[in-house]
Amino acid sequence: MKKIIIAIDGYSACGKSTTAREVAKELNYKYIDSGAMYRAVTLSFLQRHVALTNPKEVDRALLGIRITFLVNSKGITETYLNGINVEKEIRKMNVSEKVSQVSALRTVRLAMVEQQRKLAKERGVVMDGRDIGTVVFPDAELKIFLTADMLVRAFRRQKELLERDDLVDIDTIISNLQQRDEMDSNRTESPLRKAPDAIGIDTTQISIDEQVDEVIRMALTKMIRPLKPQA
Ligand code: C5P
Repeated sequence: MKKIIIAIDGYSACGKSTTAREVAKELNYKYIDSGAMYRAVTLSFLQRHVALTNPKEVDRALLGIRITFLVNSKGITETYLNGINVEKEIRKMNVSEKVSQVSALRTVRLAMVEQQRKLAKERGVVMDGRDIGTVVFPDAELKIFLTADMLVRAFRRQKELLERDDLVDIDTIISNLQQRDEMDSNRTESPLRKAPDAIGIDTTQISIDEQVDEVIRMALTKMIRPLKPQA
């Protein structure tokens, strides 16, 4: 079967990462969480007190950042910043509150997109984010765009944070999601958009299993090579 690229874009907390991870597992594909990369850059900038308004400082800081992914003993992909596992740190609210400002910077995006393309050069990849179907892989064979109602998204995110022992009230989560939606959709560089050829899925009323099954069904139809006409 042909190896393809599956791009899953959409708003924060619509189930992109969970769907992408499960689809990759089922298809034995590589899973890349592009949001984790922007989060890792943000964490690094916070740790080093980088002034986002100073382009030289931003560029210098970017040079010192190496992001890698490693699969842990439970089969879960984790994010490493300069060799240190930052998977827990990058999901915390202090990072969520700054990440949209960092990801709006042109040089940050250029550096991340370059790495994302390298990571997927052999295809057989599921990547989730905001600009995967529009900018990173406009030629992806399958593009999905996820949406869901705000309250459902906020409760899902709250549950995820609780699983990491991080108790955050629902109003704080809603306001963070709204702010990120707003900034991600209105920035100049690669704003969050549904690609014209992306298939929209509203995940408000459907389970993760249903989302995953739906994406796999669509992927299989793209993976099967068309038969050569008989001579
Ligand atoms: O996917 P996640 O919610 O972890 O992404 C965190 C943030 O990273 C987003 O709110 C957005 O600002 C940024 N991002 C982006 N482009 C991507 C993926 C994420 O700008 N492809």
